[in-house]
Amino acid sequence: MAATLIDGKAIAATIREEVKAEVAQLREKGIAPKLNVLLVGDDPASVVYARSKEKSCANVGIDFELKTMPGSTTIEEVLALIDAWNKDTSVHGIMIELPLPKGMDKKVVLEAVDPKKDVDGSHPINRGYILSGGEGLFPATPQSCIEVMLRSGIEIKGKNAVIVGRGETVGKPLVFMMLNQNATVTVCHTKTADLAYHTKQADIVIAAVGRAKMVTADMIKPGAVVVDAGINPAEGGGICGDVDFENAKEVAGAISPVPGGVGSLTTVLIQKNVLKAIKLQGLA
Ligand code: NAP
Repeated sequence: MAATLIDGKAIAATIREEVKAEVAQLREKGIAPKLNVLLVGDDPASVVYARSKEKSCANVGIDFELKTMPGSTTIEEVLALIDAWNKDTSVHGIMIELPLPKGMDKKVVLEAVDPKKDVDGSHPINRGYILSGGEGLFPATPQSCIEVMLRSGIEIKGKNAVIVGRGETVGKPLVFMMLNQNATVTVCHTKTADLAYHTKQADIVIAAVGRAKMVTADMIKPGAVVVDAGINPAEGGGICGDVDFENAKEVAGAISPVPGGVGSLTTVLIQKNVLKAIKLQGLA
């Protein structure tokens, strides 16, 4: 293997210790950080994600409350709960598990969350802060793409970065987050005329596509940094990324695997957002 492996699990463990220490300091000051998660309906993957957040919060000392509502719940009932959580000063972070039941307007629900408690970084006000360079709550997955590089000693400033994918969750926010890191950014998508032309110029390729192994070794400049945000079902079970890892690792200078890369940081970065939310709410 030519490339250095970007070890998301080790980076997550380091950040987890930082979060634990900060939580302990806040608790000494009488602040008990708390994350509330709302799950509407019975999407099996969402139940697993919510339970995994609960376990992880217990591990760092963040209080956690999961509210489950049946799929038949009306949007008015959901908005009333969010309003109560917005007003509850003991709740510092709010997350709405997606997908919501069919027919429930996701935009209306997500925009009801107080932007200062929006630890998922999906509120338009927080999206706006990414553009203006302000202090907001930013989404965990694009933040993770940057964090795995910075914490591996990879310089982003001045580099040609190509982001493959312009999805709302990862690609689009990442464009401006990478600009804020002073990269020169190109963003590619399904209408890009010659994807490989662009990726081959890149010092940094970030894949956020949702297509298993579509970024292949021949699309990568030798020595480039390859960050894979993808999560796809793998042949024979498990998950794989958007990059053909086995072949790309022979060409890249550094590469993040799936699993064990970008995805390893998401929960701990949401917890970091809970701590940032406490500051934004003027409590610490
Ligand atoms: P999305 O909204 O579906 O966006 C996918 C993007 O990829 C679109 O912009 C699409 O282009 C582009 N694309 C699709 N096929 C392409 C191709 N053949 N060539 C070039 N571009 C192509 O996806 P997302 O929600 O942003 O998620 C992106 C990936 O990140 C997925 O694998 C998802 O599972 C993963 N993800 C990971 C985490 C994590 O915790 N690690 C969290 C969230 C998402 P158009 O805009 O032209 O359609």
